[in-house]
Amino acid sequence: MTTALATPACPCGSGKPFASCCEAYLRGNAQAPDAEALMRSRYTAYTLMDEPYLLATWHASTRPTALKLTEGDANAQPQWIDLKVKAHKVEDASHASVDFVARYRINGKARKLEELSYFVKEQGRWYYLSAYA
Ligand SMILES: [Zn+2]
Repeated sequence: MTTALATPACPCGSGKPFASCCEAYLRGNAQAPDAEALMRSRYTAYTLMDEPYLLATWHASTRPTALKLTEGDANAQPQWIDLKVKAHKVEDASHASVDFVARYRINGKARKLEELSYFVKEQGRWYYLSAYA
């Protein structure tokens, strides 16, 4: 067992080290194999404020032009605490949903985001499509 410092746990809560979990997706070295993996990697991207990854994995039909994650007062930005995936439902080969709870702190207060996210697969890649919160 190596130290936590050498192999930091992935922010997505998988229990795996970042280097063998979401890192390859964020770096573009691998594609998330399913909607849950993509959802987890997008959560990790939020914790790292990796806006390019978030936009790249957002379906073109619903993608915002920018997220402005690093703009404004830092206290007004959520500080992500953890993620729990409650369900991953595969509708068919190219449609899936992920039900999750993400906890965060904003302006010193703990909050949680419960969301049912929809994902679509196009040309071999999964994309975040929309949310039903
Ligand atoms: Zn991960």
